[in-house]
Amino acid sequence: MAVLIAAELGVLRFTINTLSSTRAFVASEGLWSKAQKNAVYYLNQFGHTWNDKDYNNYRSFLQVQEAGQIARMELEKNYPNIEIARESLLKAGNHPDDIDDMINLFGRFKSFSYMDEAIETWAKGDSLMAELRLYGSQLYTEVHAEKPSPVNIAYILSSIDVLNANLTIMEDKFSYTLGEGSRGLEKVIMGMLFIIVITVAGTGLFLTFLVSSSITRGVEEIISVAENVSKSDFSRSAKVFSGDEIGKIAVSFNNMISDLQKKIFELHESGEKLREQKEVYETLVTAQSEMGEGVLIAEGEKIIYTNCALCRMMGFSREELLSLPSFIPLLLQEEQSKVLRNIRLSQYDGIPRKDETTTLRKDGTRIIIEYSMKTMVSDKKVQHVVIIREITDQKKIAWQLQENARKLKESNTELEQFAYVASHDLREPLRTISSYVQLLQYRYKDKLDLEANDFIHFTVDGAKRMDRLINDLLAWSRVGRDREIKNIDLTETLEIVMMNLRDSVNETSATVTMGPLPKVQSSNMHMTQLFQNLVTNAIKFRGSKAPQISIIAEEKKDKWLFSVKDNGIGIDKKYADKIFVIFQRLHLRNEYEGTGIGLAICKKIVEQHGGQIWIESEVGNGSTFYFTLKK
Ligand code: ADP
Repeated sequence: MAVLIAAELGVLRFTINTLSSTRAFVASEGLWSKAQKNAVYYLNQFGHTWNDKDYNNYRSFLQVQEAGQIARMELEKNYPNIEIARESLLKAGNHPDDIDDMINLFGRFKSFSYMDEAIETWAKGDSLMAELRLYGSQLYTEVHAEKPSPVNIAYILSSIDVLNANLTIMEDKFSYTLGEGSRGLEKVIMGMLFIIVITVAGTGLFLTFLVSSSITRGVEEIISVAENVSKSDFSRSAKVFSGDEIGKIAVSFNNMISDLQKKIFELHESGEKLREQKEVYETLVTAQSEMGEGVLIAEGEKIIYTNCALCRMMGFSREELLSLPSFIPLLLQEEQSKVLRNIRLSQYDGIPRKDETTTLRKDGTRIIIEYSMKTMVSDKKVQHVVIIREITDQKKIAWQLQENARKLKESNTELEQFAYVASHDLREPLRTISSYVQLLQYRYKDKLDLEANDFIHFTVDGAKRMDRLINDLLAWSRVGRDREIKNIDLTETLEIVMMNLRDSVNETSATVTMGPLPKVQSSNMHMTQLFQNLVTNAIKFRGSKAPQISIIAEEKKDKWLFSVKDNGIGIDKKYADKIFVIFQRLHLRNEYEGTGIGLAICKKIVEQHGGQIWIESEVGNGSTFYFTLKK
């Protein structure tokens, strides 16, 4: 379109230029004709006046034609010197602004018929002017002859008239030809302009149609996709038909749709998550409610949510709890400041707080609750989420247990006291019985019959056993009684134990190995008793092989783990607890001697040191006694 308009403007410019040049040529021809007529006039005058002034005027008018001729001849050349042509045309009296247009017109159209004819006419005019100059020279010579001949002069003047008449014809022909040419050119150019205008208009209409149909198509496409989007159908995106503004709008529209789709998807996802979370939350709250855990949400001090469990716990209906201006009065007065302090702390550091407190039910009874509370602070509000569990019964049980433990301890102490007193006091009469029976045996051995001797023997034996039993009972009751606690090197303790047991070790060919042993805080007496009882049992309850005993200590985080391992007869797993109970034995006295107190003493010592004792054993495969002592 722009090219066409530029072409149209170019043609217009060319037309105006050409017409203006034609006008300049016609004007130039006017000057030429005028000069020619003036020259002829002054030459005629000179023929009558014989005055050289007229002749000189004639000469000066000739110069216009001469200059025009030089210009014409120069421009007719294949490579004209434009400067010479320009100078000559200026000399011929043409306006300086017209000269370049004239030169251009000459150059462009010199081979066109009209222009060619005009130039030819112009050349003929120039040749007629050459004849005029000849007549002028003849006239001048005749006038200035010694005896000028009037006949000759009249003849020359009549020839000049004829020539002048011919020149007038030439001049008319020149003007006419140029006029014809310019009219022809005008028609051609008008035709061209018409075609161009039609083409421009047609092209404009065509482009307008194209643009409008492309706009309509693009806009309709966007509208149709927008309608789909409004129905939540994102399956189609707008087709981009062009790279123009509508195309760009379609691209932006598509981007907007995909963004929208992404956002809707994200919204959907987060909605899903929210729904899931809500489900989880509701399940949790229901489960808590079913498990009897109360849930309370408060904004400031005002309850905004509570579950059934809490209502049941407190004896209030939900509406009653929600209508309370503050939950604080539900707490026992002396507990309120502690709870408020927890709320403030949680509000300050955001860390959940867990505590116990006492609240008042609607009927005024007190219940003990355990609560876990988290405070959430946002720009707008402060919310406390509280999980509440009633622990009145547990508390009662715990108190009961504590009470029982206290009572047990008391009765244990009494028992120990009793055992100590009893065993201590029993020894005295027993010793008397034993001594007198032995005296009886010694003095009347020969005077009594065999049966009486056996009876005495059984009595002595029974008294000895009772003495051992009382001894052991005394030892058991003494455990924990004001012993001096100090740093005991267990290696030294074991040396003493081995010294005490050297006879039985030698008799049974027992081997006792031990790893490095630590130092512990205890009394010499207790540690010796503990290890001695275990090693004695390991030797006593040996199998057919010689006893092999190993004692190892292993360091743990805050305690020592000891093991005393043997290769003896072992025990059945089901008796693992029984053997630590006082007087409990797994064997008859005639199989293995003993009172059933040794392991009870070990247990008591270990427990008094904050430890535990147990056995790992298998019948026929030896036993390992483990016990721990606090560091
Ligand atoms: P006693 O040794 O006087 O019988 P203890 O209290 O020392 O009493 O032991 C209780 C019972 O545990 C023993 O009668 C015995 O049956 C069993 N016992 C203890 N030590 C071992 C051991 N090393 N191997 C097998 N059985 C054992």
